[in-house]
Amino acid sequence: MTSSKLDSIFTPGLVAAQQPQWPGGPEGEPIRSAVDVLKKLPPLVFAGECDNLKARIAEAAEGRAFWLQGGDCAETFVAATADSIRNRIKTILQMAAVLQYFASMPVIKVGRMAGQFAKPRSNNDETRDGVTLPAYRGDAVNDLAFTLEARTPNPQRLVQVYNTSAATLNLVRAFTTGGFADLRQVHEWNKGFASDPRFGARYEQLANEIGRALEFMVSAGVDPEAFKTVDFYSSHEALILEYEKALTRIDSRTGLPYDVSGHFVWVGERTRQLDGAHIDFASKIQNPIGVKIGPKTTPEDALAMIAKLNPANEPGRLTFITRMGAGQIREKLPSIVDAVTKSGAKVLWVCDPMHGNTYETSTGYKTRKFDDVMDEVRGFFAVHKALGTHPGGVHIELTGDDVTECVGGGEQISEADLAGRYETACDPRLNHTQSLELAFLVAEMLRDR
Ligand code: PEP
Ligand code: MN
Repeated sequence: MTSSKLDSIFTPGLVAAQQPQWPGGPEGEPIRSAVDVLKKLPPLVFAGECDNLKARIAEAAEGRAFWLQGGDCAETFVAATADSIRNRIKTILQMAAVLQYFASMPVIKVGRMAGQFAKPRSNNDETRDGVTLPAYRGDAVNDLAFTLEARTPNPQRLVQVYNTSAATLNLVRAFTTGGFADLRQVHEWNKGFASDPRFGARYEQLANEIGRALEFMVSAGVDPEAFKTVDFYSSHEALILEYEKALTRIDSRTGLPYDVSGHFVWVGERTRQLDGAHIDFASKIQNPIGVKIGPKTTPEDALAMIAKLNPANEPGRLTFITRMGAGQIREKLPSIVDAVTKSGAKVLWVCDPMHGNTYETSTGYKTRKFDDVMDEVRGFFAVHKALGTHPGGVHIELTGDDVTECVGGGEQISEADLAGRYETACDPRLNHTQSLELAFLVAEMLRDR
């Protein structure tokens, strides 16, 4: 299929929210030349891998697997270093090991990684000391520095997104198949965390239990290949449609279009208009897809979304990532889950306990309370328990580094501590320790379910 035929897959003339104001306009030479480059580049992921993930999501939707998705709110080009990528992978693998043991089911490991470079914003502009400039929309669009040059959208950055994603994925694949991810090694790291006296004996007991299970298997001569490598998938918000469309290709096996910029892409809360260009885009690709749904979502909205995005009720195709806020989840989620269940639609329910729980401190830091994050997860589990549905997974903004961006947790990070190591380019992330605490606490919920 030629690329012009490919373009015609998508419905023309729809409104695309949250798009950058490229110099030269949406049809100008700068964006067109970047798109021309992207269209000729090889895929970042393979359609068959997207199908594998879809099959695993189908299992999770049936209650037989748990989804763990984590990574930066906004990846940046400068932070795509070996150390930073390794620490994030390590954190997610550590979390997955704990969850898997206590859930007694496979954990699907997904990074908000290798493509998460674009951000929707509440305001088009940002004003500081009387100077107004375009808002930062992620490294895919412009630079965080507060100068006119840095904030002017530059479409060549989309090519850099591709290159940085390729480099990141290359390292991810090396780490997850080259011995680094060995379950016994991951457990050693978890033992180190759990023996930290700041957390008392609670996590240590859980870690010891996993240790005994591993020792038992080793003593019985069990040495499965599955201990040594893991499947790790990439995901990001499909926000900048020029980028996603340029990386949408016809799969030679099936003749169908796949967005090969990542295994799983989602549509955000701000761009999920039913008649908008993002939902149209998502409806046309074969990847497993997600939609974020916030507290204003009605049961009818959810059903309309399903009709548009998964009319054939294909298992594994659609994931709803709910982000209601700790104060609202127990009230807002039940009617949505109930309506979807009664309709017979197969979806995976994932809890994003981050985006409904953001607030600004008096000192001007965007932050989240660890306790609010945990409370939303607890509410999510409670709602699904009451309805007899599967609390299918969690979606977490995290980093593997010891940043101070979210308050609370066993390290008792206070609002005054935030200035110490506040490094995010966008939303506040759980640090390495807070992420592991969350995993142990969610593991308890899965065990006690
Ligand atoms: C995000 O995931 O960073 C985000 C902007 O989320 P939401 O679309 O749920 O607001
Ligand atoms: Mn975010």
